[in-house]
Amino acid sequence: MQLSQMSVFRGQIVHDSGKFPHMIPFVKRGKRSAREVYQPPGGESIGARASAMRSAFVRSLIPNVPPSERELADAFSLLKLDADDLRCVYCGDPSTEWDHFFPVMRKGRPTGYLTRIQNLVPACGKCNQSKGNRDWKDWMTSAAPLSPTTRGVSKLSQRIRRLQAFEAWGAEAVVDFETVLGSDAMKQHNDYLRQILSLMNEAEAHSKALRTALLDELPYVIQEKKLSLWTRFWRLVFGGR
Ligand SMILES: [Zn+2]
Repeated sequence: MQLSQMSVFRGQIVHDSGKFPHMIPFVKRGKRSAREVYQPPGGESIGARASAMRSAFVRSLIPNVPPSERELADAFSLLKLDADDLRCVYCGDPSTEWDHFFPVMRKGRPTGYLTRIQNLVPACGKCNQSKGNRDWKDWMTSAAPLSPTTRGVSKLSQRIRRLQAFEAWGAEAVVDFETVLGSDAMKQHNDYLRQILSLMNEAEAHSKALRTALLDELPYVIQEKKLSLWTRFWRLVFGGR
């Protein structure tokens, strides 16, 4: 074995080239046990999708209001945005998405803020995830993980002033869904959600029972397969039927 052809680190083997595929790799024992690093992919749970479903029911109500040219120009001007080099308004990194400046949902309920240019700002993934549903200014000046303050971004007070001007420009835009759509329509919408969640609960209980049954059966099923493989091996080595 030519150890010079490979590097070994914590039980991992990296071949320098594919020249020696026939070699049996030498595995050095690291400090971690096999048990520690064994992480099977998580089983899918139907119940775990419940919060995503609640969120979808709120977000599905929120229309996407197309901005006029004037509104777009005003927003870009207030936020000092450059369409050729769009940057995150919170930290200045390249923008990867548009963030709802005020969250459209809180505690499973619509806040009344909408998807419109007055409530959308370009952001980077780090800021968007770190901000979550928090108030933008509290978050920017907080020590939350990955907040602009935590990351020590430059010109923080200038960025906050721009965002305050943007907030003042679009601040009044809140809609009470129940007043506009009527309580019957909203009740119907919420009933659909309740029915789906209830059905998801039933399906979850059923799938859990099936999973347990399958696990109980496995020793027998797997034993059979092992015997069959062994028989094939026996025949291969010693021949016969
Ligand atoms: Zn950012």
